[in-house]
Amino acid sequence: MFKIVPVSAFTDNYIWVIHDQYHAVVVDPGEAKPVLDFLEQKKLKLTAILNTHHHIDHVGGNLELLQQFQVPVYGPGSEEIPTVTHRLKEGDSVYLSELSLRLNILDIPGHTSGHIAYYGANLLFCGDTLFSCGCGRLFEGTAQQMYISLNKLAKLPDETGVYCGHEYTLANINFARLVEPENQAITQLQISAEKQRKSNLPTLPSTIAMEKACNPFLRCTQPEVIRNASNYAGKSLTDPVSVFAAIREWKNNI
Ligand code: ZN
Ligand code: FE
Repeated sequence: MFKIVPVSAFTDNYIWVIHDQYHAVVVDPGEAKPVLDFLEQKKLKLTAILNTHHHIDHVGGNLELLQQFQVPVYGPGSEEIPTVTHRLKEGDSVYLSELSLRLNILDIPGHTSGHIAYYGANLLFCGDTLFSCGCGRLFEGTAQQMYISLNKLAKLPDETGVYCGHEYTLANINFARLVEPENQAITQLQISAEKQRKSNLPTLPSTIAMEKACNPFLRCTQPEVIRNASNYAGKSLTDPVSVFAAIREWKNNI
């Protein structure tokens, strides 16, 4: 069996390391040093690198890791990441034989145009698309693309663990409370997340069930979300993509 451990990088990135006693796979190594330190400390051999999208805080460590370990690098087929050896798209899968773990690829454009997720064994590695109680900014995609991508993730089983790329949970919760002040699930999440952060623990992984209960970006058909999004936009919003676009813009501007 394997474990999944967050290795902290920069100020708020998590590099997820999936490992057993001997082998490790890393997801989105934005920098190499903390990964190399972790591998050395646990006496692990790197066997693969997985990238979700091209941003430097997710791929910046690839080259330095490759200098020590000659491993395959998996990444999105429609983005240019120089070190990627296996270009993936929805319908593909990656078999990590050392860990007996198969991960299926989902296309989830919106944050970047080629962003992918890795999903299998009740684990979801979703980079900067779905965050705990939030979602990524629309750097390359449209609100409609992101809305479709988030809903694709929301259809995964409730117990799926959400392993995203950043520790943004507390700030996301503060925003979620503005959008849905009456949602008690958000209040509960805030209590537990504050406790975790005070002890310097990650708030992740989240679960799909938790996200469906708390994440305003997955709740664009809820009356309270529609009402407050409409208030922000200054007009009555009726379709969920417009509600999504309004709260994404609202979050950008606070
Ligand atoms: Zn990003
Ligand atoms: Fe990022």
